[in-house]
Amino acid sequence: MGATLEALHRLQEVELQIAELRKVIDRKARAVRQQEARISELQAKYQKEHDALRSGQMEADRLDLDVKSREAEIAKLRTALQGAKTNKEYSAILTQLNTNKADNSKLEDRVLALMSELDKKRQVHAELQAQIKSEEARLEELRQVVREAEDKSRDRLESLRAQRIEAAAVVPPSALELFERIARKNDGEVMARVIRTNPKRAEYACEGCNMAITIEQVNAILSRDDAIPCNICGRILFLDTAAATSVR
Ligand SMILES: [Zn+2]
Repeated sequence: MGATLEALHRLQEVELQIAELRKVIDRKARAVRQQEARISELQAKYQKEHDALRSGQMEADRLDLDVKSREAEIAKLRTALQGAKTNKEYSAILTQLNTNKADNSKLEDRVLALMSELDKKRQVHAELQAQIKSEEARLEELRQVVREAEDKSRDRLESLRAQRIEAAAVVPPSALELFERIARKNDGEVMARVIRTNPKRAEYACEGCNMAITIEQVNAILSRDDAIPCNICGRILFLDTAAATSVR
């Protein structure tokens, strides 16, 4: 194997270790983001309940005021009833009094129903509040897990990054550019072995995507010390010693 491919292999080794470390932290960070989304969903629900409770309370207050003003009206009619001069006047006031009493009793029923509805809403409201609090505590735990994972891998990641710079320094620029592009696409997995798929015939495939590799490509890999990508998945192809011998 030529110097370029050897350098790419060293870079690949370091890259995979970095990708592995990152994956562990990313998984934990994803749990944090999911928890954050869960909390904001609960908060939106809470806000909706809160608004409904507020407008329900305003409606109850308004009805209550209505009941009180009718009660004042009823008291006035009672006084008027006592001062009625004629039977006709008396019976007219009495009719109005009874109408007002009936209306007010309906109104009071509505206030009571509304109050019990508001009590239920208050309970849901309080439950949501408690749930948000406990989910927030869980979020803090998850964030702590991420911080710990980051702390734990910081030194190793730093040393791997230094190794990566060292390994990349000896890779030709065009091969390095290709390497980095494939690394971003494939979670750090860049190099793919060329495997022989038929023991009797010269048939080869890319181990990364299992698609066929032409004999021309195989020969190019053998004769040129260069980063030759798989036509299908783009990974940089290489032949290990056994496969290289079998081609010759
Ligand atoms: Zn491939």
